[in-house]
Amino acid sequence: MNILPPRIEKLIDPGWAAKNIEVSVARLDEIHPQVSGNKYYKLRGYLNEFQDSGCRELLTFGGAFSNHLHAFAFATHELGIKGKALIRGRKPARLSPTLENCINYGVELEFLPRSVYTEMKNSALSNLKTDQQFFIPEGGFGEKGAEGAEQIYTDINGEQYTHFVAACGTGTTVSGILHKIQEQQKILGISVLKGYHEMEANVLSLAGKQTDARLHINHDYSFGGYAKFNSDLINFINEWFRRFEVPSDIVYTGKLFYAVNDLIEKNHFPTGSKIMVIHSGGLQGNRSLPTGTLIF
Ligand SMILES: *Cc1c(COP(=O)(O)O)cnc(C)c1O
Repeated sequence: MNILPPRIEKLIDPGWAAKNIEVSVARLDEIHPQVSGNKYYKLRGYLNEFQDSGCRELLTFGGAFSNHLHAFAFATHELGIKGKALIRGRKPARLSPTLENCINYGVELEFLPRSVYTEMKNSALSNLKTDQQFFIPEGGFGEKGAEGAEQIYTDINGEQYTHFVAACGTGTTVSGILHKIQEQQKILGISVLKGYHEMEANVLSLAGKQTDARLHINHDYSFGGYAKFNSDLINFINEWFRRFEVPSDIVYTGKLFYAVNDLIEKNHFPTGSKIMVIHSGGLQGNRSLPTGTLIF
């Protein structure tokens, strides 16, 4: 797959400049028209491993608007891999645009009862392979995913920044970047799950650590939980686009930018900070909203 390193965009705001704070965004949402964002980085390690494994079929897990499934479908199509997506719950009368895309990319969909889905998802965490099948854990979670995400730091020339901020779903992306940062750099993960306090331990264990003072996970910006949102968030996302022309999504990056903006306001970052915000993509998921909700 032909993927370019992300464009780095500096966001100019007089209030931030007055605090001597610089904010840059790594536009992973632009690296590829289909395989946008952090999902490509996380998939890469698994795809290589699959190709060496001798397995015939590549499977993974996800929901109706999953960015992971979307990237997976495109990647399997590009590489000529037989892919199957396991989806929790009954087949709906009308498929989401994301699942329609999966079918168009030749991915087979299998809808599983919740209990079966959970069991298979959990077993994939410890066993990536069976005889002929190779499983990528839900969301690309795992060491292979984190290894892939390390490349983000390299691609954005990470040495120049004091702080990295990224949205956390499984924590795999933050873990990969944590593995690469220098002694004096810090990384802040904005959790999009409600009160999921195991996040920090997950991130650390993927990075092979028990503690790390450079890592902080913030739980204050989940807006009620995974894929939950309200009119405040929608207004913020539209406002952010008017202000910087940076589009974001309702599940991850809208919450991320909201947090960054709010935390700068609350003087969380010391003066002189050079903040790198990882725009991890996910814009395709906005197709779950009624048209016209967002201005972009
Ligand atoms: C999946 C996803 C995340 C979360 O990444 P993790 O590595 O699971 O923490 C963040 N942003 C977007 C847009 C995503 O699709």
